[in-house]
Amino acid sequence: MRFTGTMKVNAKGNLEIGGCDTVDLAQNFGTPLYIMDEAYFRANCRAYYGAFNKHGADAVYAGKSLLTLSICRIVDEEGLSLDVVSGGELYTAIQSGFPMSRVYFHGNNKSADEIRMALAAGVHRFVMDSFDEIDLLDTLAQEVRLIANVLLRLTPGIEAHTHEYVRTGQIDSKFGFVVPNGQARDAVNTVLSRENLQLRGLHCHIGSQIFELKPFGDAAEILLSIARQARDENGWVCEELNLGGGLGIHYAEGDDPPSIADLAGTVIRTVQDTAARFSVPAPKVLVEPGRSISGPAGTTLYTVGSVKTIPDVRTYVAVDGGMGDNPRPALYGSVYEACLANRPLEERTAKVSIAGRYCESGDMLIWDAKLPLPRVGDLLAVGVTGAYNYAMAMNYNRFPRPAMVLVRDGEAELIVRRESYADLIRNDVIPGRLRKQHD
Ligand SMILES: *Cc1c(COP(=O)(O)O)cnc(C)c1O
Repeated sequence: MRFTGTMKVNAKGNLEIGGCDTVDLAQNFGTPLYIMDEAYFRANCRAYYGAFNKHGADAVYAGKSLLTLSICRIVDEEGLSLDVVSGGELYTAIQSGFPMSRVYFHGNNKSADEIRMALAAGVHRFVMDSFDEIDLLDTLAQEVRLIANVLLRLTPGIEAHTHEYVRTGQIDSKFGFVVPNGQARDAVNTVLSRENLQLRGLHCHIGSQIFELKPFGDAAEILLSIARQARDENGWVCEELNLGGGLGIHYAEGDDPPSIADLAGTVIRTVQDTAARFSVPAPKVLVEPGRSISGPAGTTLYTVGSVKTIPDVRTYVAVDGGMGDNPRPALYGSVYEACLANRPLEERTAKVSIAGRYCESGDMLIWDAKLPLPRVGDLLAVGVTGAYNYAMAMNYNRFPRPAMVLVRDGEAELIVRRESYADLIRNDVIPGRLRKQHD
């Protein structure tokens, strides 16, 4: 596991993050525990702010990767905008006091209630995903006598994930309006014909954990070709071009993503050059990073509960969490790296597999990790768990979800309380006829 952000080994020989000894964190807050390195999270926000916002572009933090009230406060303080994809994420942003003038509302099937909530809150942009949604937003905006500002999510016919990058003429996706078959153009015309909608720009999101910059530039060109067409046909000027999120991060050996500055250089330059070539005004560039801001700043701390060796087969090291706090390995086969937080420098002589405690054979956090042979009671730190871990956490097997602490300058502050057993049954209801009779 790479030491990043404020991670280091302290004088006691333990892993330290944000100036806090992880052994103390485990003692004070229990395990499993999500640890968020505040300085690192802020540094990632600043890298985007410096590369985009300072050049007339805008970085929008994708809240779906990790959103809590405190995270909203930090993103606000760092001056980034915020993407939400649900009523729940919007509610979190509202409750944190995040300025709605910097909120973008996504989602491929927003409900009428969610749209009403967003109209009332005054979100900055609605990103439209279907013709039905265009109708719904127009109707609901009319009801409250508002003009909703709209971006259209397009499917440019590019899909990129890590090293795979495909251009397909026709893309099969639940998201967005397809460009190659003319639906994107129809969607532009539809929005332009609606009285309560104002079309501000175009959007696409071509994938996640992307290691190449070319697909971002290619997507920008395809979006701008739609902008040019709409300018020629309707005189519409595309003010904003939103190229989505997706910049990859380093999870494990071999992952070598481009930098935030390189991403900015490529997309800003491509948009300017292409707009000039197409003789359309260069729109404002937006990106929506999630993983590359929150991911590297998070670490999960577990306690080892059992070490089981099957001779000539494998050693299973079971920890007190698993797919409930990090579903990504089970969902996508994602690879993580780890270290023993209470003896991070010891020689890594063993090859062991880290198992979760959920009743599912697929609940394996790491296969074949190189570690000092773990013992019961050791603390295992898994790195780069800030994105899509807490956000995807679940209560399978009725395990309460872990707490999250924000660490900075030797101080650890709780930002998400550990769930209790009482929390688990809070919404359960027993109808009268099933109640246990007391005599
Ligand atoms: C998921 C998503 C993002 C964030 O993607 P990351 O890979 O976390 O950067 C941004 N925009 C949209 C529309 C998304 O669906």
